[in-house]
Amino acid sequence: MKTVLFNLNDKELEQFVADLNLPRFRAKQIREWLNRGAPDFSVMKNLPEDLRDKLSEIAETLPLKIVKKLESADNQTTKFLLELVDGEQIECVLMRTTYGNSVCVSSQAGCAMGCKFCASTLLGLKRNLTVNEMFAQILVAQWELRGDKFRDIKPNGDANNGDVSHIVVMGTGEPLQNTENVIGFLERANNELNISWRRITVSTCGIVPGINELNKWGRPINLAISLHAPTDELRSQIMPINNKYKLHEVLDAAFAFSDTHNRQLMIEYILLGQKDENGSVMLYNANEDYANKLVELMRGHNVMVNLIPWNTVDERDFASISGNAVHRFQDILIKNGIHTRIRRERGADIGSACGQLRLKNSKDNKK
Ligand code: SAH
Repeated sequence: MKTVLFNLNDKELEQFVADLNLPRFRAKQIREWLNRGAPDFSVMKNLPEDLRDKLSEIAETLPLKIVKKLESADNQTTKFLLELVDGEQIECVLMRTTYGNSVCVSSQAGCAMGCKFCASTLLGLKRNLTVNEMFAQILVAQWELRGDKFRDIKPNGDANNGDVSHIVVMGTGEPLQNTENVIGFLERANNELNISWRRITVSTCGIVPGINELNKWGRPINLAISLHAPTDELRSQIMPINNKYKLHEVLDAAFAFSDTHNRQLMIEYILLGQKDENGSVMLYNANEDYANKLVELMRGHNVMVNLIPWNTVDERDFASISGNAVHRFQDILIKNGIHTRIRRERGADIGSACGQLRLKNSKDNKK
């Protein structure tokens, strides 16, 4: 198997270079290219061509390769299908926004959580991602933004200079089933790329011990809870994890986190409909009664409720609800003083909106 140079530390990279009878400064040059996210050796212009060819034969730059790159029609969203060295595939999404460049990172290949509305879990869990595999997703996005036009990385990334400035761990997988590596990855992103804690968000379906671990870790990141239902009865129907950690336990742990760090808690709530036998769409978790129940859960807490219109997943038995129904639900929250917004979905046209990752491509690949 080819050596992945990004996985070598400085000493190991120097040894690798020495074993090829190259001068030591080559290690430094290669490291600079790796830190920029160079996808292969052909771009390393300050290396002689025969060396670049030689390196391509025996090594890889990053621990993942771009298999496919999709650009949304508005050019604001780029989705990458990435292949890891063991052949597993993951996805990562770059979103260019007015406040900066945000990367949605996957924490696992596949997912074990089994949420009934989500596409990421349909093929089950393959494995946890390593720190390097998560970090490399940022580098892929960074290379897309600025290629070899490398400048010094400024505090908080500089969106205008084309840096990655925000990270959301909201791709495939459940980050709090891979907490140690997620923490290792975020420490590095903060340390090496200067991405500040408040520009980092970790989203979980509600693994209570994991939330407590984040709390103990003590960094003031943003926490997002995928809630999607305001009662245990309803939540257990669509999120199997709720049989293990009940709604109130999850919210208590999450409120404790946001209180400790004085951060607003993000609540994610997909508005789901279901078709009856005549084909008309009935509200599932989105009627007035559930809106009022959600208000009671949120009252008195520092929260932002993100209402997410459901993105179609063919295999899943839900339906999108009308814009009017979305607004009726939101109005109840607003009237009761709960901060809320409707999430603008990005990249639905390229299958990169929430819950759509990986599956489409793995189906295409089988063809
Ligand atoms: N496992 C973590 C990280 C994934 S985040 C978590 O559950 O939070 C992905 C977000 O997209 C979650 O809020 C998830 O509930 C939501 N999502 C999943 N399927 C979706 C769909 N079909 N439409 C809209 N949002 C969806």
